[in-house]
Amino acid sequence: MEQKRAKKTRLDPDTVLGMLKRILAENGKDYVGTYAVAIVCLVIVALTTAFTAWIMEAVVNEAFANQRADVVWLICGSILAAFILRGLASYGQAVALAQVGNNIVARYQKRLFDHLMALSVGFFSDMRSAQIAAQISQNVTGIRDVLNLTITSLARDLLTLVALIGVMISKDALLTLVVFAVAPPLLIALRYISKRLRSATRESVELNSHVLGAMQETVQGVTIVKAFTMEEQLRAKMRVLIDAAEGRANRIVRLTERTSPLTETLAGIAISGVLAYAAFRSIYGGVLPGAFFAFVTALLLAYEPAKRLARLQVNLERAIVNARMIYEILDIVPTQADAPNAVPLKVEGGRVVFDAVDFAYTEGEPILTDVSFTAEAGRTTALVGPSGAGKSTVIGLIPRFHDPERGRILIDGQDIAAVTKNSLRAAIAYVSQQPYLFEGTIRDNIRYGRPDATDAEIEAAAHQAHAHAFILSQPQGYDTPVGENGITLSGGQRQRLSIARALVRNAPILLLDEATSALDTESEALVQSALETAMEGRTVIVIAHRLSTIARADKIIVMQNGRVAEEGRHEELARREEGLYARFHRMQALGLDSDAALEAAAETGDTERKGKSAS
Ligand code: ADP
Repeated sequence: MEQKRAKKTRLDPDTVLGMLKRILAENGKDYVGTYAVAIVCLVIVALTTAFTAWIMEAVVNEAFANQRADVVWLICGSILAAFILRGLASYGQAVALAQVGNNIVARYQKRLFDHLMALSVGFFSDMRSAQIAAQISQNVTGIRDVLNLTITSLARDLLTLVALIGVMISKDALLTLVVFAVAPPLLIALRYISKRLRSATRESVELNSHVLGAMQETVQGVTIVKAFTMEEQLRAKMRVLIDAAEGRANRIVRLTERTSPLTETLAGIAISGVLAYAAFRSIYGGVLPGAFFAFVTALLLAYEPAKRLARLQVNLERAIVNARMIYEILDIVPTQADAPNAVPLKVEGGRVVFDAVDFAYTEGEPILTDVSFTAEAGRTTALVGPSGAGKSTVIGLIPRFHDPERGRILIDGQDIAAVTKNSLRAAIAYVSQQPYLFEGTIRDNIRYGRPDATDAEIEAAAHQAHAHAFILSQPQGYDTPVGENGITLSGGQRQRLSIARALVRNAPILLLDEATSALDTESEALVQSALETAMEGRTVIVIAHRLSTIARADKIIVMQNGRVAEEGRHEELARREEGLYARFHRMQALGLDSDAALEAAAETGDTERKGKSAS
């Protein structure tokens, strides 16, 4: 039932190498060509850098010591050529790597979006939507950074370093060994830093997701925030979060930058040691300074790539944490895949049968118990009952937002667990209490009901839903953009748009969650009339709150505590003196609205029963 986190992959994803292998395995082959170009460019950068160090010996010895005017031109010309070549190669590798990087970000965004839509409704009720979005946007660049850091560091920095070390060895092998004495303490220190960085990075992303998520929620709920004067409380809460995020970001900087004093000090030791050794050898040994100059140039040039390489693990550590958080989402296995031999649903009338259905959101806390009822084809079945009775849950099981633990749900005799989800959902239109409008125009929003609907069909549906007139009065008619919950439209207008969306779908089964929130009388009448049009000739299962809807239904299912308490038509149920529905009906006659009457009826029922069992 619950979404299961995927087992850890074979390549232990906790290691940098494991994550790198996985990212390469999933993307590598599509970028082989571009990476080849980038690597050729990086090799050129490395070789030209090494060349500029190598040529120093000739500069010093030929131009200054031996004063050979004829070779100066050659030397200077070759240095200029090396720099120009290096500039072009740097451009080539930067553009190639950036394009691959952008493509990887785009590819993972698409993958994540597809994946999120494949996950079942359960995932989204466990996680806050604003935080999911914030996490994705913070982490998705991690995958790109993992690849690019590795490629640039390995190809450019490592190659440059190797080439420069080659120059150093060719000029003075013994001195090269001396320089390398600083490597071991550096490596040990870097290990320590990168370990601590791992947890700090994860905490930082999580805190930032909280901050971004809370901001988005506040913006969305701004009317509630103001109405309840929640500003002070929210401000205090937000400050704590933001301060924590700031502290974490500072900690990351301190950890990362700890590499700087470390590498600078060690480099200082190496360079001053080399200078002292060479200077004394030149002073007392009379050796020509050319080779030494070349050596020092190589050493100085090696410093930057060596520093970057030293920080590679530290930077990778951060990118890997980001990449891992992306994979944590991607690795959630959608639990509600179609059965292997699923067939398309064939709808004739759209008769819906619940056959002894048990359901729980979390194991051990049953919400529905032994629910059986039939919603006849082309008829209206009203679900009635106090809040929390399980009516919305029943509705949610029909499009398979969740799957029952026991029992079956049949549509025209076919078990919905055995048909493809697409065909099942194509047979169903759903009008919720909260009419949600998506980013786009009014026309787009109606067309979500059926992508291939023509403009004429959309307008016909809008007519039927009594939406046409107010749509035309909008600044751009059907092309008026709405979004962010359609902030410019009234509640009744939004409801009529969502009814038009359901009408355009033209599905045989209509699931309806009647709004409890009061609309003004005129809107109310329009919505009601639009709903009646939508209900005509369809199998309708409606969570009913209005007496008029309930009384007109072909069948009423009274639910209580996750069970079907009574069923029948209004007149029959109202006649049963002892029944919940009859009590509800009497309360309503006293002037309570239907929801309050239901609550009251359920409560008096409980006390009556308790009273009886006590006596
Ligand atoms: P009704 O529509 O009759 O008011 P619901 O079907 O919404 O009742 O809720 C039935 C019970 O299921 C309630 O106790 C509610 O708290 C619980 N419930 C509803 N949705 C979820 C969910 N996503 N996760 C866990 N429990 C839920």
